[in-house]
Amino acid sequence: MNVSSLLKAPGKTLSFEVFPPKTDAAFATVRLATELIAALRPAYMSVTYGAGGSGSAATLQVAEHLIRDLKVPVVAHLTCVGASFASIDRQLAEMEQAGVENILALRGDLPQGYDHQCADFTHACDLIAYVRERVDWSIGGACYPEVHPESASQREDLASLRRKVEAGCDYLVSQMFFDNNIYYNFLYKAREAGIYVPIVPGIMPITRASQIGRAVQLSGTNVPGRFRQIVDAFGQSPAAMEQAGIAYATEQIVDLLANGVEHVHVYSMNKPQVARAILHNVQELLK
Ligand code: FAD
Repeated sequence: MNVSSLLKAPGKTLSFEVFPPKTDAAFATVRLATELIAALRPAYMSVTYGAGGSGSAATLQVAEHLIRDLKVPVVAHLTCVGASFASIDRQLAEMEQAGVENILALRGDLPQGYDHQCADFTHACDLIAYVRERVDWSIGGACYPEVHPESASQREDLASLRRKVEAGCDYLVSQMFFDNNIYYNFLYKAREAGIYVPIVPGIMPITRASQIGRAVQLSGTNVPGRFRQIVDAFGQSPAAMEQAGIAYATEQIVDLLANGVEHVHVYSMNKPQVARAILHNVQELLK
């Protein structure tokens, strides 16, 4: 199943991101979580790359199980920071063997003191162009409604994003945001900048108070006062915070669908109960 064709065809979709195990010991737990999420029959699932230095093997193991055994379309993430042309060739061959035909091509976060001068790839657009020449897969890329932390301005960020699309990126998936107006404004500016591929909003259900600090630290995401109030009121109770986080994410998705957005990607954080509740809350809206 070609995910970019799915995103360009009529119809609404909900999809889920999962992450591979960080250690061998966690493999069984992650496998069960991904199986339970797959059983919800999402439009597709994406599998992140590089969790805790796990590299491509863990991503591929999860992706192959989803594709071959559970028959779910998969987008495998692939990063190029520190990669050589030869290592990407090797990974593409392994992906092909695992049945992968959709990737999300990323640069990855730069390790401290990273030296671009000795790298085969500098930006995600280099990886996208390289992969585009070698395989006929759907290729997605990342985008940042609140501007990538390394970019000096949104204008500069959008110019880079346009290069990514020109390099052969079929669609974009956004960084999380907690205020839909930020996404709508970004969509408008991206179109104005000549970026016409589908831009799928990424929704992160915050179900633990500690997730908020990490989300802000990683991505500089703006946390609206309304959401901070929810975390202040319910953050101490795991059950209450999970319910509130699901309700908030549901509200965001309902608003997106009501405003004509057709495809939403949910960062499931490997929590089947969260994925199930969100799907249940919006399934009539997806018809
Ligand atoms: P790039 O597109 O290369 O952008 C990085 C910076 O360089 C930006 O400031 C951009 O504006 C600038 N830039 C880009 N191209 C150019 C150019 N040609 N000239 C000048 N400047 C340029 N990380 C992981 O390690 N594993 C994952 O699985 C993963 N999944 C993700 C999924 C999504 C949906 C998102 C939004 C992020 C994900 N990340 C993941 C995080 C991502 O790797 C980081 O945000 C990283 O810092 C940037 O990756 P990128 O692909 O957006 O890089």
